[in-house]
Amino acid sequence: MRLLLAEDDPLLGDGLKSALQSEGYTVDWFKDGRQSLEAALNESFDVMVLDLGLPNLDGLDVLRELRSRKSTVPVLILTARGNVNERVTGLDLGADDYLAKPFDLDELAARLRSLIRRSQGRSSPLLEHADVVLDPAAQTVRKNGEEVELTLKEFIVLRYLLESRGRVVSRSRLEEAMYGWDVEIGSNALEVHIYNLRKKLGQQLIKTVRGSGYRIG
Ligand code: CA
Repeated sequence: MRLLLAEDDPLLGDGLKSALQSEGYTVDWFKDGRQSLEAALNESFDVMVLDLGLPNLDGLDVLRELRSRKSTVPVLILTARGNVNERVTGLDLGADDYLAKPFDLDELAARLRSLIRRSQGRSSPLLEHADVVLDPAAQTVRKNGEEVELTLKEFIVLRYLLESRGRVVSRSRLEEAMYGWDVEIGSNALEVHIYNLRKKLGQQLIKTVRGSGYRIG
């Protein structure tokens, strides 16, 4: 999952970035409203965490502009505690959820999971296909009820494929999802992860679609 973080506070941003990375997100962090808006419009993100007090372009203006340009990226806004007006305006402008500062990181993680789930039209928190069940919150994978140990990158690749079940996911999209976990990704790294996933979860689970990428289901 690729996440856009718009937060100008260096300490909070840094803490958020590492906390979200350990939840399995690939985080692109911007400290400025205009840059955040441009990134959100030009690249594809699965979710956005938007602080409202940002330099150059206020968070509410970022949101207004995003929605007026038909961006449907799910947005969680970070607001000042007690500022009800800001919250109401944010939600009316098309934010999907909010958290008031200071907030708990576990709560942020849970809200993001639920936001992504809703944006994908799922009500169950579990991702499943055939006998494989992935639990994004517990970060576990089971096959026939038995827990299977995966590396973090294998987990990220599997989650992405399950979230896109029935659709082909391009190699570059999967590589992007893994990016941020290694300084360098070897050119054959994705194949290695796919190979290991098949070995652990069965050869039939992940299909190679020649020339375009991989697919589950
Ligand atoms: Ca701020």
